[in-house]
Amino acid sequence: MSFPVELLVVAIDGPAGSGKSTVARMLAAELGIQYLDTGAMYRAVTFAVLAQGLEPDDVDEVAELARSIDFDVAADGTVTVEGVDATTQIRGPAVTRAVSEVAAVEAVRLELVSRQREWARLRGGGVLEGRDIGSVVFPDARLKVYLTARAEVRAARRAGEVSDLNYDEVAADIARRDAFDQGRKVDPLRRADGAIELDTSDLTIDEVVAILADQVRQTDVG
Ligand code: C5P
Repeated sequence: MSFPVELLVVAIDGPAGSGKSTVARMLAAELGIQYLDTGAMYRAVTFAVLAQGLEPDDVDEVAELARSIDFDVAADGTVTVEGVDATTQIRGPAVTRAVSEVAAVEAVRLELVSRQREWARLRGGGVLEGRDIGSVVFPDARLKVYLTARAEVRAARRAGEVSDLNYDEVAADIARRDAFDQGRKVDPLRRADGAIELDTSDLTIDEVVAILADQVRQTDVG
């Protein structure tokens, strides 16, 4: 699939805790474009799956729900599902436990990929972060980035974000989700062809954002 050349898309992928969300939000502000956390979309669908009492492996019902559900991931991070604020619940343990299984359902991915492309088309582009943005959603993105960090650094970052979880629980959760996301059949987490890989373990957020903003500007031939 091809996209109009004027679409300025930056695709940022990587495992949990690699710094994607913070970096993507700040890079978007720096470039004066919008930011989309696609993980929040998979979390919103998972929240609805659990709220309706479905099991993540009820594949047909989960797929139908993903197609029919009304949800919104706002620029300020607020997430509403069927008009109800679910910003806090989508980050909670129940959704975090189930999200990778829901995200492995092919029909769920087809639906959310299509919503992500539409989101960018309506805005003339944006910074999108997730697991498959450079490999599947926007393989022609202006810049494709694969962020990594050492496992213990990623766990410490996530533990710092969510106050009621301890380091060992977070480290185990991240390892489990990464293995699942990398091993799934449909659109697994991987570095996209042509993506630059950046290890953020020993860099500040400002340094990462400066490196990426520079890379985007170098691609701006106009
Ligand atoms: O980014 P975050 O950790 O909130 O993502 C939650 C989960 O959603 C991931 O572990 C992954 O299973 C799924 N996901 C995905 N594709 C994306 C974004 C997230 O499969 N583009």
